[in-house]
Amino acid sequence: MQLLGHGFQEEVALKEIISPRSSGRPTWAEVDLGAIAHNVELVRALVGPDRGIMAVVKADAYGHGAVAVARKVLEAGASWLGVGLPEEGMALREAGIRCPILVLGPTMPQQAPQLLEGDLSVSLYSVEMAMALQTEASRRGVSARVHVKVDTGMGRLGLEPARSLELLERLRSMSRIRIEGLYTHLATADDPDPSFALKQLDRLLEVDRLARGRGIRVPFRHAANSAALVTLPDSTLDLVRPGIMIYGCDSGFRGRLPVEMRPALSWKTLVAHLRELSPGESVSYGRTFVASRPTIIGVLPVGYADGLPRRLSNRGEVLVRGRRASMVGTICMDMTMVDLTRVPGASVGDEVVLIGRQGQESITADDMAKVAGTIPYEILCGLTPRVPRYYLDGPQRGKEAG
Ligand SMILES: *Cc1c(COP(=O)(O)O)cnc(C)c1O
Repeated sequence: MQLLGHGFQEEVALKEIISPRSSGRPTWAEVDLGAIAHNVELVRALVGPDRGIMAVVKADAYGHGAVAVARKVLEAGASWLGVGLPEEGMALREAGIRCPILVLGPTMPQQAPQLLEGDLSVSLYSVEMAMALQTEASRRGVSARVHVKVDTGMGRLGLEPARSLELLERLRSMSRIRIEGLYTHLATADDPDPSFALKQLDRLLEVDRLARGRGIRVPFRHAANSAALVTLPDSTLDLVRPGIMIYGCDSGFRGRLPVEMRPALSWKTLVAHLRELSPGESVSYGRTFVASRPTIIGVLPVGYADGLPRRLSNRGEVLVRGRRASMVGTICMDMTMVDLTRVPGASVGDEVVLIGRQGQESITADDMAKVAGTIPYEILCGLTPRVPRYYLDGPQRGKEAG
C-alpha cells in the first residue's frame, strides 16, 4: 500500500502508514484512490464501452484533492474532466494533465486569455463570449473549444433552446471557434418521477436535431450527472458527467446500482482530552448541554473551521472504539465535544471517525449531511484546507486504516 501525504497544494511522500501515533495534525482525511477507481469502473459498466466519461472534479474534486483524483480517474477510464472555474482547470494543466477539460461554470470575456492559455473547453451561452474567444484565439493562432449550454429547465446557466440554435448558427462564421459539445444540466435527475428530466432531454435533442438539419453536427452531446446516468439511461448520449458517485455517495439513487460504490473519503480525529463532569455541569458556549449524570466528555481537535457544520451541535455522532457517541454542546471553531460515558475504556489518543467506518459501524457523508440539514456535496466541499488529506493507493484496503 502506498500512502501519499497531501498538504493541500504540495504532495509529500509519507514513509509510514498513518496511525494515531504518526506526527502531523491529529485531524485528517484519508482519500482511498482505489475506491475512486472502483467507482469510475462502475460508471463504465453502467454506460458501456462507447460513451465518454467526464469525471467532475470541481471544488478540489469535491474536497478530495483535484490533482490526485484527476490522475486516478483518467487511469481508471475517464477521458474528460469537468471543473467549475478556469483556475481549477489551470491547476490541473500545471500538474501536467493533458486531457480535455470543460469549465462547467460561468465565464466572462475577460477570462478568454486564461481559458485559451489552458486549452480549456468553455461552456458557451453568449455571443459576447464567443467574440472574445474568437478575437483572443486568432491573436494566439489557436482555436477555442466550446460546448454550447442549453437551459432546458434549470433556469440557470445557458440559453433557451431557440436562442441556442441561433448561437450555433452564429458560431459557424467564427473561424476560431470549434464546437465540441452541446449540453444541458438536469434539475430533477434524483427524483423518482422522471417526467421533467425527460422533458429537458427532449428539448436538448430537439436543438441537436434542428442543428443537424442545418448541417451542424456536434461531436459530444451530454446531459447526465451521476443520478441521471443511473436512473435515466436515455440521458447518457455521447458523454456522461458523474461527480458525486465518483466519490462514492449514492444518496440520489440508492438501491439502483448492481454493485456498491465505495465512499472514498474518511474523516478522522483523535481524542485530545477527557473531562469528567458532575450532574449540573455544562459544556461549551451557551451551556446548551448540561450533564444529568456523571458524564465523561471527550474533547476532539476539530471544529467548524475545519468544515464540521455547527448545525451538528448536540445532534451529530462520531465513532469511537466501534461505538457511536453523541456530539454534546456547541461545536467551536477548533473543538468539538462528545459524550464518551458509554464507551468503555475511552482514552486520550483513541481514533475518532467523523466520516467513515470503524468496526461494524459507519457514518457516511450523506448521514452527516442529513443530520446537518444539507447534502453530502456541501459536507465534502466544506472540508477546509487545514484538514490534511492523505492518499491511500492500492488494491482493496483493509477494513480499518492504521
Ligand atoms: C457538478 C456538475 C455535475 C456533476 O453532478 P453530480 O450530481 O455530482 O454527479 C455534472 N454536470 C454539471 C454541469 C455540474 O455542474
